[in-house]
Amino acid sequence: MSEFVIEPPQAATLPVKGTDSRFPVRRVYCIGRNYAAHAIEMGHDPDKDPPFFFQKNPDNLVVSNEFPYPVQTEDVHFEAEMAVALKSGGTNIKIDDALDHVYGYATALDMTRRDLQGVAKKMGRPWEIGKAFEKSAPITHLVPVAECGHKDAGSIRLTQNGEVKQDGDLNQMIWKVPEMISYLSNYFELAAGDVILTGTPAGVGPVERGDVLEVAIADLPKLSVKVV
Ligand code: MN
Repeated sequence: MSEFVIEPPQAATLPVKGTDSRFPVRRVYCIGRNYAAHAIEMGHDPDKDPPFFFQKNPDNLVVSNEFPYPVQTEDVHFEAEMAVALKSGGTNIKIDDALDHVYGYATALDMTRRDLQGVAKKMGRPWEIGKAFEKSAPITHLVPVAECGHKDAGSIRLTQNGEVKQDGDLNQMIWKVPEMISYLSNYFELAAGDVILTGTPAGVGPVERGDVLEVAIADLPKLSVKVV
């Protein structure tokens, strides 16, 4: 007899550059409004607020060239974001120690059902319905820090059907990667397998079926996704 009463769900994992071994994903944290120009375009004052986070589900991360247009929405937006994967964690991590916990980086999209998120914001409800849906986070394979170094600056750019829509720099983040790790660890116990999506620059917008989105972040792998 099996030790499980139902078939255990398959663990979410990501491929890693240069190896056949995979990175198991434990949790996915996403920061909101982390580039000043994007905070302004969404109608907020970037100077006033402390950072805030929402979560996606580990199995929302999908390595695929296709993004299926999700159900229950007519306004799906792209948000180009760098992903940070942790190899260790803890609580009350000091900013100066935070990067020691990073395993690697990847290129990702925080796809968003903006209409549903808008209703949630207006009514003071959680954001999951707008953010944590199936296949909502297309992502590339991870690149280990040993290979790519840490990423505190560098171009982050998204094109839609070849037209540049988002064109920022990682150095425009309001809360830097070490600060995000430290802040999160004051509220949650971080651990190996945690992934953080680090926010999106200005220029977010809607997608239609047939669109091709391409995201390029510094020297990380390029992400190319067709909306189907
Ligand atoms: Mn986002």
